[in-house]
Amino acid sequence: MVRLVNVASEVYPLNRLDEICTHIERCGRTCYKSENAITTETAAPFISGILKSGHESVIEHANVIFSMPVTTKNHLIFELKNVSGLYCSIEQDPLLHQETLIVSGNIRSFRDLARRHDIHDFLLLIGNPLFFIKENAIPYFQDLKIEGIQQSRFSEIHNYVTTHSICDLGAYKDVTRHRLASFSIESTRYCNYSKGKFGAELTMIEPCNIEKDSDMYHIWLKAMNDIETSYMEMAKLGAKGDQLRMILPHSTKADMIMTANVAEWKHIFSLRCHPAAHPSVQQVMKLILTECYKIWPHFFAEQYALFIKD
Ligand SMILES: Cc1cc2nc3c(=O)[nH]c(=O)nc-3n(C[C@H](O)[C@H](O)[C@H](O)COP(=O)(O)OP(=O)(O)OC[C@H]3O[C@@H](n4cnc5c(N)ncnc54)[C@H](O)[C@@H]3O)c2cc1C
Repeated sequence: MVRLVNVASEVYPLNRLDEICTHIERCGRTCYKSENAITTETAAPFISGILKSGHESVIEHANVIFSMPVTTKNHLIFELKNVSGLYCSIEQDPLLHQETLIVSGNIRSFRDLARRHDIHDFLLLIGNPLFFIKENAIPYFQDLKIEGIQQSRFSEIHNYVTTHSICDLGAYKDVTRHRLASFSIESTRYCNYSKGKFGAELTMIEPCNIEKDSDMYHIWLKAMNDIETSYMEMAKLGAKGDQLRMILPHSTKADMIMTANVAEWKHIFSLRCHPAAHPSVQQVMKLILTECYKIWPHFFAEQYALFIKD
C-alpha cells in the first residue's frame, strides 16, 4: 500500500553569516534525502563536493545584502551584465536617511560576478574561502558593507525567503517554471524507493481535488497501489532509478526547496494562488504565502487578504 501524506510548507530560516554553509547543506541534502547524514562537520565537505561537481544551483539558496555609498566608482555595478540572481538599486536608507547603493544576490551570483567580471569584493566580505574564485583578489568597490543575510531593511528585491515544501510532482513541475527563483528537489533518479531507506514503498500526496472516500478517490488509490506494485516488481528485475521513475505519477510526493526574493514571491503568488492555477499548486503556494505573511506582514498583507483571509 502506498503511503499517503498531506502537503506541508515551512520556512528555512537564515539570519547569520556563519549559518550560510549549514543552510546550504540542509537545502542540498534534500535532493539526495541524506538529511540524516548532517553533523557539525559535514557542511564544508558537502559544499566542496557540490562545487566540484558543478551542481552550483544549491548555493543559490543563501543570499547576502550589501550597501555602499553612491559614488561614480561604485556605479560600475549597474554595468556588469549577464549575472543572474544579482539585484542592484539606489534606495533611501530608512535608518540613515540617505541615498545608498544596495546590491544583493546569492552566493552563486557572486561567484559568477568574480568569474565573468573579475569582481571579488562580495565573496571577500562573505569571507569563506570555500566560495572564493581567486585567492588574494583585490577589492574594487568603496566602503562596501554587509547589511543582512536573507533579510534587510531595504525594498522587496533585497529580502529573500527559502521554503521547504512537501507537494506533489505536478505542483513542483508547475512551480519550477518560475525562472527568477532557485530550486532543489528530491531527485526521482537518485532516490530508489524500493530500498529500505524509503521503507520500500511509494509516498503520494492526498489529492486536494478528489473527494476523499468517493468512488473517484478509490479508483485513484487503486491506480497508485498498482503503480507501486509495478515499481517494486521492476526493481526486483534490477531496474535502476532512471528506469523506475518512468512510471511515477503526478501525485508522487516531492520535497522542494525554493528560494526567491519577495518581489518574485509576490509575482508567483499572484499567478499560483489564483483560482486559474491547478488546485495542488494553489494549495502549496497558499501555505507558503501564509508563512511569508507571518515574517513580512507589510510586504504580503494585500495578497494574504486576497487569497487566504477572504
Ligand atoms: C494558470 C496558468 C496556466 C499555465 N499554462 C501553461 C501551459 O499550458 N503551458 C505552458 O507551457 N506553461 C503554462 N503556464 C506557465 C506560464 O506560461 C509561465 O511559464 C509561468 O507561470 C512562469 O511565469 P512568468 O513567465 O510570468 O515569470 P517568471 O519565470 O516567474 O519570471 C518573472 C518575470 O521575469 C521576467 N522574465 C524572466 N525570464 C524572462 C525571459 N527569458 N524573457 C523575458 N522576461 C523574462 C518576466 O517579466 C517575468 O514575468 C501556466 C501558468 C499559469 C499560472
